[in-house]
Amino acid sequence: MSTTRHNWTKEEILDIYNKPLMELLYEAATVHRLHHDPNTVQVSTLVSIKTGGCSEDCGYCPQAARYNTGVEGNDLMSVQQVKAQALRAKSNGSSRVCMGAAWRNVKDGEEFDQVLEMVRTINKLDMEVCCTLGMITENQAKRLAEAGLYAYNHNLDSSEEYYKQVISTRGFEDRLQTIDNVRKTNVTVCSGGIIGMGEKVEDRAGMLVSLSTLNPQPESVPINALVAVEGTPLENEEPVSIWEMIRMVATTRIVMPETQVRLSAGRTQMTREGQAMCFFAGANSIFAGDKLLTTPNPDVNEDMKMFEELGLTPQKPFAKKVQPQTVEASESQYQPLGENPKWTRPDHKIERNEAAKLKAKAVK
Ligand code: SF4
Repeated sequence: MSTTRHNWTKEEILDIYNKPLMELLYEAATVHRLHHDPNTVQVSTLVSIKTGGCSEDCGYCPQAARYNTGVEGNDLMSVQQVKAQALRAKSNGSSRVCMGAAWRNVKDGEEFDQVLEMVRTINKLDMEVCCTLGMITENQAKRLAEAGLYAYNHNLDSSEEYYKQVISTRGFEDRLQTIDNVRKTNVTVCSGGIIGMGEKVEDRAGMLVSLSTLNPQPESVPINALVAVEGTPLENEEPVSIWEMIRMVATTRIVMPETQVRLSAGRTQMTREGQAMCFFAGANSIFAGDKLLTTPNPDVNEDMKMFEELGLTPQKPFAKKVQPQTVEASESQYQPLGENPKWTRPDHKIERNEAAKLKAKAVK
């Protein structure tokens, strides 16, 4: 019987990642069956509630204002617009809605109040609600929890060492601090990363050390394959092979046996057979909908066809944890504190980020 460990070392994780593939698959599939129904896969829908114009310099992201990627920005969506998208997602088999806003961090005020109202509205549709809004304080996490938030997403992206070669405008420590703030509430944690950004296998293992040594481990871990978007600093990165994706999923499954491992960005580059092997290796969650924030994703009908072929069933909402209660704004215990936390801005120079910024300036 496998038990959850919180003391994995990089060497141990590398040994797992580099096992002969058949052995790795067998071990991961065995762990998977001990903790999950292998025929059930969670379906989440990602809604970009505020797109583009972001002040950060994440090297993989087409929403960063400083790069020229052709992403059209939009202001924060209305509660009614988000509700309509959530209802559509529900009728297409999604049990979770993840709302993403291209913000560095949450600021108390009208826009955050509007997001809290979105959380209340979707929770009342009996769907799991997740948000990804950037860095948040403990009080902001408590306000989200009170509104009925089920999960908060905040990805570590890569190893602490490689993170510095992708992003210069915020620090890895602040990522961990935000996760810690979420952990002071009943909201579950969703945190993962991206492979194919030019990192070494050691960095992938390093990221899994950071995630698996959290106690508790994140309830969801998205594994993304970079979608290299023209105009971003990482535009010329080669796509990762399906074998790397399978190895990453299997290793994540073994070191975090209870978590939901989500196949996220990059699924359009995978065949159905490749995705099936990822499910066998322990992936048990996908993002549905034809767009993931701004990058393409398989059509929802195609996904349902794949589920039928593979005999997979979408997971019901609140299968892992009871539905949180929504407290109305008028009865809220927590008020905005007008905080102005000093989130880190290391601002070191990353050559390829600088080059992409200069290229964008020349075009604009
Ligand atoms: S990943 Fe998020 S924080 Fe980074 S540039 Fe994109 S929207 Fe901004």
